[in-house]
Amino acid sequence: MIALHRVCLAVRLLAVSGVIFALAACQQEVEDYDVIVIGGGLMGSSTAWHLARAGQNVLLLEKQASEYTEGSSLGEARIARSLGGEGDIWSYMHNRTVAEVEELIAFLNSHEPDHSMNDIYTTSPVSYVRHHSHASRIEDIQQNQVDRYEYARTPQEADELFNLNMPPDTIMWREYKEHSGTINPRALIAYLHKALALLQGNVQYRNQVDELTRDGSGYSLLVTNTESGASRQLRAAKVVSAAGPYTGRLLENVAPYFESLINPQRVFLAFFAIDPEMYQLWAEADKQRFRDLYPAINSTDPTPAGSFFTMLEGQTPQGSPIIKIGGHFQRSDISDLDSVWQEELTEAEIQWSRESTARHLSLLDLEIGEEDLSYVRGYSCVYSLTATEFPYVTRVWNDPGEPDPNLVVVAGLSGVGAKGALAYGQIAADLMLGEDEPDPMYQKARAAFGYDRLVSDLSH
Ligand SMILES: Cc1cc2nc3c(=O)[nH]c(=O)nc-3n(C[C@H](O)[C@H](O)[C@H](O)COP(=O)(O)OP(=O)(O)OC[C@H]3O[C@@H](n4cnc5c(N)ncnc54)[C@H](O)[C@@H]3O)c2cc1C
Repeated sequence: MIALHRVCLAVRLLAVSGVIFALAACQQEVEDYDVIVIGGGLMGSSTAWHLARAGQNVLLLEKQASEYTEGSSLGEARIARSLGGEGDIWSYMHNRTVAEVEELIAFLNSHEPDHSMNDIYTTSPVSYVRHHSHASRIEDIQQNQVDRYEYARTPQEADELFNLNMPPDTIMWREYKEHSGTINPRALIAYLHKALALLQGNVQYRNQVDELTRDGSGYSLLVTNTESGASRQLRAAKVVSAAGPYTGRLLENVAPYFESLINPQRVFLAFFAIDPEMYQLWAEADKQRFRDLYPAINSTDPTPAGSFFTMLEGQTPQGSPIIKIGGHFQRSDISDLDSVWQEELTEAEIQWSRESTARHLSLLDLEIGEEDLSYVRGYSCVYSLTATEFPYVTRVWNDPGEPDPNLVVVAGLSGVGAKGALAYGQIAADLMLGEDEPDPMYQKARAAFGYDRLVSDLSH
């Protein structure tokens, strides 16, 4: 329960000439909460929803306005894929998230029946186009793949299976599964906040936590309204930190080691439209082949820097689909986290994106060149990286060297978070509530992201 205490933080008494004056019968309101979640990106929003569903009174604090303009979750498409099969934690996180989104939609529809899985997922086959030197990796996955897939090892097989013109040094795998395709972070966050409000949870935008400190067994937060500049003091028995790239800064007083465990790196996204006149002339079958070619992970250039992910996000006023592209290894250091989001793409980055897009489209054999792609826009974004590229969903290690049951951190989601968003949030909420699940895959994922790993990373 929220208790609003009117407390006198300090009544300062001053003795002057033997007379005691009350300088200030200073009164200040301290709001007291069961659980405060800091950060309303995919991870914080998901955790807050799970906590509220479990009956907790939750306050979610987000420093941006309700229309986000930055953050790792910014945008309307991320690849959601199940590839990996039995025993694979990434596959588990994706499939668990699909099941959780179904529950979220059912909950929303029980109040107002106009929500659909299609608002969150664009179901579409996911293509993996790789240099043939990666064949052993694909074939390892094939051993325990449970979902339907098709695999072309030669240009002839690619022609027969996918009607594509695949170069001889390339292999291609296509995964077919309902809700594999893309997931929409913007829509998912909006639905999570809506569900939270229906459960009497509270989302406060433009509320930035400037200081987080221990206060007995709980936490004290200094929060600034980014619009008015007014500050207030909050207290919470339990806190979830889901501040994405800002994790190190947020935890500097309570778990300062996160500054070195989470490494924010700049990445970029570029958006291109195909010449609308050319697109309109394509036969319907070619338009379908084009749509089926997205989303994709393309590693036909065998160097890490040459590989990219690409998907469709939006369309031009003339109706041409907009292609989005970015590189998992197109990363650079950040000098100022607050302004990196406004950094324009360099000419070299736009050119890399254009060339890579044209290379991907050459699979269609429709004579589309770089000159047929017009640059629509681009923006800088941030990956929160860990040394192993596995995220953390863990209680923190406190001073006596023990797990603190009252502070859970979800961080380091780099390029994997979206497809597993509701599963990460479920694990974080369970840690906060002391809940557990016997399912071996849940146990495997929880261990991979959890406290023992944190301690092991700290000891290194
Ligand atoms: C370019 C790019 C491509 C990606 N592609 C994929 C993909 O194809 N598939 C996939 O599954 N995943 C993908 N991801 C990963 C996925 O998008 C991220 O893992 C996920 O969005 C991370 O969410 P988050 O909540 O941890 O971080 P964020 O979205 O950054 O959320 C943190 C929030 O905390 C707020 N905040 C920070 N500090 C404070 C504070 N002090 N007080 C209040 N609020 C605060 C921020 O404003 C922000 O909204 C991609 C990521 C990027 C950047």
